[in-house]
Amino acid sequence: MFRDAYNAGDPVGIEAMKYIKNGNLVSDDITNKVVRKRLEKEDAKSSFILDGYPRTVNQAVALDQMLDEMDTQLDAVINILSSHDVLFERMEHRRVCRDCGETYHLKFKPPTTPGVCDECGGELYQRQDDTHESVQNRLEIYETKTKPLLDYYEEKGILYHVNGMQAFDQVTEDIMMVLEDL
Ligand SMILES: [Zn+2]
Repeated sequence: MFRDAYNAGDPVGIEAMKYIKNGNLVSDDITNKVVRKRLEKEDAKSSFILDGYPRTVNQAVALDQMLDEMDTQLDAVINILSSHDVLFERMEHRRVCRDCGETYHLKFKPPTTPGVCDECGGELYQRQDDTHESVQNRLEIYETKTKPLLDYYEEKGILYHVNGMQAFDQVTEDIMMVLEDL
């Protein structure tokens, strides 16, 4: 979303990319603005999925306010459970297409031709935040900043847990089951 807003020449997107280029987390204020603009687009009117947001209780509160003003609300929050070992394994082997954003895993979902995207022929790269050190850092941030969201959504009665330590397809299926039962 940050990249799209930046490419569209949106001032908020340009502001966000300044943080990202310096390797910093984008401030809650800017992040909330980018999300709001995205949620107001036509294709998000009937439904949407947020991935990687909100990451802090502050962001969650802002999101609730935003949705309130837009006369809608979250139906479900899905917590995908995984051990740290599995997370390291996944992220260190993850490769992403520079052009279309498709993701690969060197062991479990390798591209047909090494380094080349099956979907569009684009170049695959390792995200800077997928190195061991960076993953460690992100897990620490998760523990202090993001984990409190579980209590926040539990209290609202919309929190669901899915076992993330299964084959990709099974995780997908379990998530679909949660959504279908809503
Ligand atoms: Zn691609």
